[in-house]
Amino acid sequence: MKQEERKELEAKLKEKEEKLEVQLEDFKKSLDFGDETDHFEEEADEAEEFGTWMGLKRIVNRQLIRVRLALSKMKIGTYGICESCGNEIERDLLLADPESPHCKNCKLKRT
Ligand SMILES: [Zn+2]
Repeated sequence: MKQEERKELEAKLKEKEEKLEVQLEDFKKSLDFGDETDHFEEEADEAEEFGTWMGLKRIVNRQLIRVRLALSKMKIGTYGICESCGNEIERDLLLADPESPHCKNCKLKRT
């Protein structure tokens, strides 16, 4: 992979990381707000909403972990190498999904 391209992907990943961090902060605020309301009849609704928030939070959290992992791989020089088979991850896949830890083949096998 060209140095230029790697830099571009790194910038993309950092941008993603920032966005996900902001999203997580927002989730935290929403969850805190949920704790403050204590109307008894709204409890069921809130519990449901809370569950949705938690689910979303988990998804964002997982994405953030993937992005951070990719960034740390860039630092140690293993970025762009498939975690399953050790082959290089296709360029177009990385451009579309810079934090992907797997090549196209392995990605297909896993889903
Ligand atoms: Zn692979």
